[in-house]
Amino acid sequence: MRIGIDLGGTKVEALAIDDAGQELVRHRVATPRGEYVGTIAAMAGLVRRIERETGATGTVGAGIPGTISGATGLVKNANSTWLNGRPLKEDLEAELGREVRIANDANCLAVSEATDGAAAGVGVVFGVILGTGCGGGLAFGGRVHAGLNGVGGEWGHNPLPWASGDELPGPECYCGRRGCMEMWVSGTALGLDFQRVTGRTLSGPEIMASCEAGDAQARAAVERLEDRLARGLAHLVNVIDPDVFVFGGGLSKASRIYPNVAKLLPSYVFGREVNTPLVQAKFGDSSGVRGAAWLWPQAPKTSTA
Ligand SMILES: [Zn+2]
Repeated sequence: MRIGIDLGGTKVEALAIDDAGQELVRHRVATPRGEYVGTIAAMAGLVRRIERETGATGTVGAGIPGTISGATGLVKNANSTWLNGRPLKEDLEAELGREVRIANDANCLAVSEATDGAAAGVGVVFGVILGTGCGGGLAFGGRVHAGLNGVGGEWGHNPLPWASGDELPGPECYCGRRGCMEMWVSGTALGLDFQRVTGRTLSGPEIMASCEAGDAQARAAVERLEDRLARGLAHLVNVIDPDVFVFGGGLSKASRIYPNVAKLLPSYVFGREVNTPLVQAKFGDSSGVRGAAWLWPQAPKTSTA
């Protein structure tokens, strides 16, 4: 049995899956925001509850909105800032008495979809979460590529490429820089962009819905987002050239972005030739928690490599 935990900003969700990826049980609790000790207790409590109900012991993987520093073993880059600088992995392992694997939540999306989702069996998968924020994650052969510095796939904090005059210097990002992709292609970003241009206040999902209902200003805002997304993805094609892009998060449910962004990509990619599929995550909002479970891979290698 594999147990996956998705530590989100508002909820902590955990599920157990069997070897075939079949869901056995799932529970969620509200995230103890701002409380580190409470967060560890919530995560461990979900594992204990699942093991009590199934009568089985599982491997434990967790997806977090940040990463574990390879240098210090402490959480860094989490927008749930109370986790930063904390030994989350060590403390959770001590609490549960076993090794725990932890990865960035966008990396979990990529692993989930590469294992048994929309990119099952595909070699190089780049996952993009277009939610309240925007995150990127990378899986090679179904395994997380966290990278030497633990920032593999952190495309959300690269600057918007080929920014025009009115896009510079770009909105301030919580990371301390301006004009990060996250500030341009997330649900929050869509709302801010729409407000800057029109003076109207709507959320990202509301703008998407208005766009579908024929609102010209909303459509223009979504078109700007699609163009910015194409520019950002073009950089990834030029550097990694992944076999597929898989999208999760609230905005990924807008079916128009797939053909529209695919149409825009060639004008930005070097050589103007792009056939990379853009697909929606098969498991939707569950991709993160499933990917966390799959951090313990399907067929563990027996070698020590
Ligand atoms: Zn940033």
